[in-house]
Amino acid sequence: MKKQWGIAIHGGAENKSRNELSDSKQAAYEQGLENALMAGWHILNDGGSAVDAVEAAVRSMENNPLFNAGRGGSLSKDGSNEFDACIMDGKTMKAGATAGVMRVKHPITLAKTILQKSEHVLLTGDGAELFARENGLEMKPDEYFKTEQKEKELQEAQKEESTYGKDTVGAVALDQKGNLAAATSTGGLVNQYKGRVGDTPIIGSGTYANNEVCAVSCTGDGEGIMRANTAHEVYALMKYKGLDLKEASQEALTLYKDRIEGDRNFIAMDKNGNVEFTFETSLMFRACKTQDEPTYLGIWPEDTADWEKED
Ligand code: ASP
Repeated sequence: MKKQWGIAIHGGAENKSRNELSDSKQAAYEQGLENALMAGWHILNDGGSAVDAVEAAVRSMENNPLFNAGRGGSLSKDGSNEFDACIMDGKTMKAGATAGVMRVKHPITLAKTILQKSEHVLLTGDGAELFARENGLEMKPDEYFKTEQKEKELQEAQKEESTYGKDTVGAVALDQKGNLAAATSTGGLVNQYKGRVGDTPIIGSGTYANNEVCAVSCTGDGEGIMRANTAHEVYALMKYKGLDLKEASQEALTLYKDRIEGDRNFIAMDKNGNVEFTFETSLMFRACKTQDEPTYLGIWPEDTADWEKED
């Protein structure tokens, strides 16, 4: 089978109908996805690593207030911005993650710094912030993260006494040396309890990469994804059951659905560069680019790429 380097990204999955997403908003999401995709793709094209490529793609979305990560991160019940992020290197199986951290401009870079410079895998809250400062990462005041849109979403969620997630971002990539990596970053749920941590920074739940098999990044109901261990499940179904990427993704989507509720959505790439976008929401913001192939960009389920069409 032909091995092709490439990158796939998501900007979250939501249950919105077409008339709830204006043309201009849709165009803004598409532009945001394209910018992020190309940031990662150029690194791969120049011979850079999958880890650097997924970090670059995620950083681009963390800069964009449209997405629920970094700048646009959702607000917790008390109005604070807490971030979760994770990055995993499929070559070394090293991982770095952070949870409930505040004021760090790029939580994904903090996760990568933890991977590279710390003896630990997961740093949370004040300790994570301290580590970020000690390592010279860019910090921002709380106001930087409080966009008008996010304040409005929090007020509405509090009126309805609801919590919900959307627009978490992630990337998976295969570099020219055949190394896989996965990265995910989120502001969590709108109106979540302070200190709540979702699936994103939990290795094997929201994020997983292993050169031997695949790389996965999830978005959706974090409580469900954590209990289903979705990212690692895709890996395990391929490794131990011999399924291909598409089959494993479909099975991981439905596994234990009778006992674990909540939507699971994820992107996955196998060791040959095949890509699957798997979601059960009404939309997933997604894109990918393999070597010099044209860019694929999709939002709605019917925005299928060639390889997604049924044989
Ligand atoms: N999975 C994220 C979390 O639970 C939210 C999301 O993907 O929308 O924190």
